Amino acid sequence: MLVLVISDAHANLEALNAVLGDAGEFDVIWSLGDIVGYGPDPNECIARLSEYPHMAVPGNHDWAAMDRLDLDDFNPDARDANLWTRAHMEPTSREYLEALPERHVEGEFTLVHGSPHHPIWEYLLSVDAAERNFCQYETRVCLVGHSHIPLIFRDAPGSRRCELLPPTEGQWVPLDCARYIINPGGVGQPRDRDPRAAYMLLDTAQTAIQHRRVPYDVERTQAKMRAASLPPRLARRLQYGL
Ligand code: ZN
Repeated sequence: MLVLVISDAHANLEALNAVLGDAGEFDVIWSLGDIVGYGPDPNECIARLSEYPHMAVPGNHDWAAMDRLDLDDFNPDARDANLWTRAHMEPTSREYLEALPERHVEGEFTLVHGSPHHPIWEYLLSVDAAERNFCQYETRVCLVGHSHIPLIFRDAPGSRRCELLPPTEGQWVPLDCARYIINPGGVGQPRDRDPRAAYMLLDTAQTAIQHRRVPYDVERTQAKMRAASLPPRLARRLQYGL
């Protein structure tokens, strides 16, 4: 089965459409959360994802949109964007988000937004944080989002420490018998100083992954954000991939 793995589309329809166009043929989408928040098209992004067979877990921005998180836990721009999203969510979008399970297990793969320990909030960016999490899920591979940074943590049998591996763009990488925590990067608001939308393909038969990037019409998304009076800093950061 060929899986399109996405995370953090953040209501950026241009970025999501670019990924869907670039990914080619796939069997299913696995979405690792934050389909809404920050961007101007929350309802449209949920509708677009729903056109495909897919599995999805919620992120912190999805929960904020449903009033499940205190907005004081967000920085001021994120808080303002969350208030905007709450005001613009259609009832069907809210129902869609409310039905999502915090974690999903599919064969050898666990899907969460933040980390297996704290599915909604924890950032997995360091070897230390990853090591605390390998015992928090049962499957061989855990797929996470939240940091908007493409990363691979590899925990080989018998090794003392896990490794942090940089993803190789556009190349199939087979996963050996080690355990892995993998982040596909962010679709709608990349934060690794590369403004192109990030996503990943996963071949479950070969157990191989391919991290990919695709440019999208950043200016169009920015224009929509300005027209919606979303915080200007959130629009600006898209062109820098920050
Ligand atoms: Zn996010």
